[in-house]
Amino acid sequence: SDRTPKYKRILLKLSGEALMGEMDFGIDPNVLDRMALEIGQLRGIGVQVGLVVGGGNLFRGAALQKAGLDRVTGDHMGMLATVMNGLAMRDALERANISTTLMSAIQMSGVVEHYDRRRSMRLLEQGDVVIFAAGTGNPFFTTDSAACLRGIEVEADVVFKATKVDGVYDSDPVKNPEAVKYNSLTYDEVLEKKLGVMDLTAICLCRDHDMPVRVFNMNQAGSLLTVTLGGADGTLIEK
Ligand code: UDP
Repeated sequence: SDRTPKYKRILLKLSGEALMGEMDFGIDPNVLDRMALEIGQLRGIGVQVGLVVGGGNLFRGAALQKAGLDRVTGDHMGMLATVMNGLAMRDALERANISTTLMSAIQMSGVVEHYDRRRSMRLLEQGDVVIFAAGTGNPFFTTDSAACLRGIEVEADVVFKATKVDGVYDSDPVKNPEAVKYNSLTYDEVLEKKLGVMDLTAICLCRDHDMPVRVFNMNQAGSLLTVTLGGADGTLIEK
């Protein structure tokens, strides 16, 4: 059928900003419900879904540092923010009857279980959505790096980076109406052109381990399903 997914196991990165919707701070429950619906569609066709959630809607280490905080403390706050987003996302998924496990890279006994690679892979095989929170557990990293790291670790077929724009452009499409979108790019092109779609750590990790990344617009309803079925929405970054 035309519903045969191209990918068996995906790692979807949702930024904190995506969860914020049209608000200036926090989590928009309508966005959570819409994400849950779209993720449910993937589960409905048997696709295994790992999720990495960002925290930029609440706290970012670099921004806190600018405001005078110690950077590592700020990064710890940022990682805790991703756990809060993870709790909200799990809640929305479970309300939609999608069995979900939340794991944190930072141990937080009694609130969320600690990340365990083998257990996460077993859960994915059993059909749970697995949310990986607290990034990599280390300061100076981002949740993009965490998404690529977890994607490679759990042997996902692709990393999907859901953003607010339609893909990777040669300049900022919000500021420049002439900006041109790339349909595909190699890792080296991303690095050479300094495109800044993801930090260098994330791109290098994917390059070294041959993990394709598709950047697409999650605000476009149905796009997640489309790209999972093999559609070319957004920009594909690969070898
Ligand atoms: N963070 C970190 N280590 C990680 C992942 C995240 O220290 O491995 C911190 C960092 O301060 C970051 C914040 O958590 O700014 C929120 O993550 P991110 O900025 O990646 O969220 P997003 O932009 O995806 O919402």
